[in-house]
This record gives sequence, C-alpha cells and structure tokens, in this order.
Amino acid sequence: MISSPFWPGRAGLAILALAATLLSGCAREEPEIRYRFPAMGTLVEVTIYDFPAEAADEAARDVEDLFLKLQREWDPWEGGALAALNAALAEGGEIRPDDELSGLLARASRISAASGGAFDPAIGRLVKLWGFQDAEHLPEAPPPAGEIEQLLDSTEPLPRIWDEQNGVLTAPANTVIDLGAFAKGVAVDRAIELLRSLGVRHAIVNAGGDLRAIGRHGDRAWKIGVREPRNSGILAAIEIAGDESVFTSGDYERFFDYQGHRYHHILDPRTGYPTQDLVSVTIIGANAGDTDAACTALMVAGHGHWPAVAAALGITQVMVVDREGVIEMTPPMQKRVKILREEPPTIKIREVP
Ligand code: ADP
Ligand code: MG
Repeated sequence: MISSPFWPGRAGLAILALAATLLSGCAREEPEIRYRFPAMGTLVEVTIYDFPAEAADEAARDVEDLFLKLQREWDPWEGGALAALNAALAEGGEIRPDDELSGLLARASRISAASGGAFDPAIGRLVKLWGFQDAEHLPEAPPPAGEIEQLLDSTEPLPRIWDEQNGVLTAPANTVIDLGAFAKGVAVDRAIELLRSLGVRHAIVNAGGDLRAIGRHGDRAWKIGVREPRNSGILAAIEIAGDESVFTSGDYERFFDYQGHRYHHILDPRTGYPTQDLVSVTIIGANAGDTDAACTALMVAGHGHWPAVAAALGITQVMVVDREGVIEMTPPMQKRVKILREEPPTIKIREVP
C-alpha cells in the first residue's frame, strides 16, 4: 500500500482501468515478462521482451525501487526533497534547490512558459484547497469561490518565481510546488534509461496507462490501446514506432460530482477551477516527461486553444475527446491511430498551426 498522502493511492488502484492497455499476444507463448507494482498513485507495469528471464525479473524490480524512491523524493507534502523545498518555501524568500530538483524545475518552467501558463507546477496550494492532494478521500464540494480568488491573487506562476540563470526560487510565502502532472512521466523516462543501461532493448513502462515503449515485440511493433474516457472499453489502438511515449490526461481519473457538475483534478491555473470542455487528451510524444506535461497543458487549453498550445510545445500527434464524445485529432495522429469504437464517432481533423 502506498503510504504517501499525495499520490492518490487507493483511488488509483481501485480504478485500475488502464487508460492504455497492452494489446500484445498471450504472455505464455512469448519470451516476455510482466511485473506490476503500485507506485505514484497508480499501478505500474513493466513489460520486458526477449531478455533472459531472471535478469528481466531483476531489472523490473530495479524499476520498482526507482519508482518508489522518486515517489518519495517528489511528493510535495511529505518525505523527500520536494517536500523539504516546499517546507522552506512556507517562509517565502530565496531558495536554492539541489541539482536534481533544479533540473526538474528548469524543465517544468520552460514547459509552463511555452504553454502560456496552462501547465503550472506552482499550483500546489490550489490543488490542496480543492482537496485533490488527499490520497484517501476525494473532496465532496468545491471550496468557496472567495478562497479560490484570494489564493490566485497571492500565487505566482513557476516561470515568474524560478530564476534559471541563478538556479534560485524566489516565491511568495506558502507557495507549493506540485510536480504531479510531470513527475510520473519523468519517472517513466528514468525507468527506460535504467532498463537500457542493463541491456534491455524491448520494453514498455506503463504507469496506469501512461507509457513509454522501446523496441519491438518480436517481429511486430508494440501495440497499445487508449481507454474510452466514459466507459471501460478501448477507444483506439496505436502501434509504437521504436521509441515513443503515449500519455493521456482525463477528467475521469480523480473527480467528484457536486450538484450535477463534475469537478476533477486538472485545474486551470487562471480560473482556479477544474477544466471544462475536454474529457481527455492523448498525445504521442518522444520522451515521457514532456508528453505528460503536455497532456495536462492541453486539457487546460481546451477546445479553442489546444492546437496553438501543442504547436508551442512542439507536439504534433494529438487526439482529444470532448464532452459530446466528438474526437478531434491532428493529421499526424490520424495516420497513427485506429479507432475501435463500435459506433463510429464524429472525428474532426485539426491542424497544429
Ligand atoms: P494524471 O497524473 O492523473 O495522469 P495529470 O498528469 O494531468 O494527470 O496530472 C494531474 C495532477 O497535476 C493533479 O493531481 C495536480 O496535482 C497537478 N495539476 C493539476 N492541474 C495542473 C496544472 N494546470 N498544471 C500543473 N499541474 C497540475
Ligand atoms: Mg500530465
């Protein structure tokens, strides 16, 4: 069981419906191992193909150790380096994070700026005001509008408080950095690096449906499924080309209903409220960290703006589902994805400018 209060452990495990599911053949016939463990509020599955069984098993356990270490280090609220940074930020003033956190903050800050603030890891206090940081309970009602407004007035976005030149954070008191929209992706990248360093060439690291795959599954490409956002079916299949990440952000992962309205865990930093018009965003990208952050950014950007934000982030393969079930996708994504829905959906093609 996950002890950390931040990563929404039980909920994540209970859901277990992976946003992307492996669509590979029968495990018994294939020289493949699969190893699963809970981490970062979800179930992580490591699949290794064509590698000596014992060494593969050991490698998968190393990946588990890595995830558990990063889970602790990057929990904003307790336990590791990020929690210590946030504790120091409670007083406000200047703080110089260690090299590893500085590297993450620098990357996150650049993505945040390019997304026009849609992705903003300085949002931690807002996440807490909503109650989405609590692993054990979902909130029952939105916080008072006045408190949201007050909080927005006293919060600065990450690119404004992170001084890249000097590696220093200068933040208003009580700022909380929350890397929840990015850290899982970075952890997946680290896991793939680790597997490669051990000699593994064909593998998938799948963190609750968000994954990076390298190599192939024997004589064919890895094939993965993207989950339907509103039921347990599979919306689409994608074949992986060599080394790619496929991530999905959606309004169905952590949410509560209040007076007929769905409130979920991806917040618009400008309004202080959960995003409204898209139910899911799926991106095929290069590395998992950037792809993870981009999914969150495009959820926030919404209908009108997601193509422009994708362009600013250098993302070309995007599929979004809106509240009417309409699918929008870019031409490069259209070439990659096979829609599996029985009743063919309305599909709109949108160019990334
Ligand atoms: P998931 O981890 O469920 O796949 P995301 O990658 O979109 O979903 O991350 C959501 C988490 O990121 C939230 O639980 C919260 O901690 C944080 N978060 C919410 N809104 C934003 C935002 N606009 N920018 C950055 N982080 C966010
Ligand atoms: Mg994300």
